[in-house]
Amino acid sequence: MKIIVPDYIYTNEAVLSDLAIAFDKTIHKIASLEELKKSYKDVEIIKLAKNTLIMPGLINSHVHIEFSANKTNLSYGDFINWLYSVIENREELINGCDKNCMAKACEDMLESGITTFGAISSHAMDLEACVNAKQNVVFFNELIGSQAVMADTLYGDFISRLEASKSVKRDGFYPAVAIHSPYSVHPILVKKALKLAKEEGLKLTAHFMESQAERDWLDNNNGDFKEFFDKLLKQNSAVSSSKEFLEYFNTHNALLTHVVNADEDELNTIAKNNHTIIHCPISNRLLGNKTLDIKKLIDKNIRWVVATDGLSSNYKLDLFEEMKISLFMHSEAPLLELAKQLIKGVTIHPANALGLNTGEIKEGKNADMLVLNLDKKPNEELPIHLILHRYDISKIYINGKQVKGD
Ligand SMILES: [Zn+2]
Repeated sequence: MKIIVPDYIYTNEAVLSDLAIAFDKTIHKIASLEELKKSYKDVEIIKLAKNTLIMPGLINSHVHIEFSANKTNLSYGDFINWLYSVIENREELINGCDKNCMAKACEDMLESGITTFGAISSHAMDLEACVNAKQNVVFFNELIGSQAVMADTLYGDFISRLEASKSVKRDGFYPAVAIHSPYSVHPILVKKALKLAKEEGLKLTAHFMESQAERDWLDNNNGDFKEFFDKLLKQNSAVSSSKEFLEYFNTHNALLTHVVNADEDELNTIAKNNHTIIHCPISNRLLGNKTLDIKKLIDKNIRWVVATDGLSSNYKLDLFEEMKISLFMHSEAPLLELAKQLIKGVTIHPANALGLNTGEIKEGKNADMLVLNLDKKPNEELPIHLILHRYDISKIYINGKQVKGD
């Protein structure tokens, strides 16, 4: 057991002051230092500098570690051109990111305060880097493949990757399932994988309604995907409608990424089934996709969280940057309220969506904590200031273990 003594503690209700935190793997008690000293005798007391704030570690629920080699290879500005550039540069990107490159992506996330991430793994090449990462990891083994003839082979490969991730025994590592998207996964595969995820209680995610191309293809079998599927896969119609795809998820709530082109009916279904939407504002902007309509989600009571996506559609894996961009993109939203929601969107909301006991500084929660050095006493606009100013993160704890700082 240790006691840490900041000047301030960030909670979603208020900024607490003059309190200390007794913790080991979890947060045991938050009270005055005097009281904690009486309850916990002879324990290490970590005194922090003036104006330090403890806030929960950040959760990046959607990142593609395997694509971390991209910097200038891929074409930005238009979704389908980007997709062609991914296919064209696939070898270079995959081979260009070795273990060190993937480890660096995890380390960079840690430096910017990310203590938990959801890795979408296409090939399990990132398994070792994710196992060795200091963070909590939800390891989403991704299933992709729209051709029925390939279904057995692809499913077999998916199962072997899933089994490999299930054999990992370390604290804070959670095997999970990703379905790539409605247009790229055959219903046979979707149904099989969802049945398995449900039986085994695995977390589930999928990309959904990212581009206009996806909308046109699923609704009318035309648009930018027509030529793409015809040329590359000899396929002339979509494997599922978006409605059918969402129906597969009716009995298993999921984290759906992007959702910027969803219609009213789809949003109502998402609300009814308690799915969570993952907002990746930088990725959406760079690939020429729409901006997520956050106001609509709030009106419909849909939980939404913020994530970076991979370096294949971002320039850094940094949730403070992501929140800042979102704050400026949604220029009609009330500033302070949006800032508060964005912070929840990288802490408590993804924790709840992923079923993890973290995301807030509260008794009983895992001790995933950031120590930030503020310049002075915070005021009621702290959520805005946290997003605007890159406050130095001097220490980081994950499951009570110090992973950064002295
Ligand atoms: Zn993605």
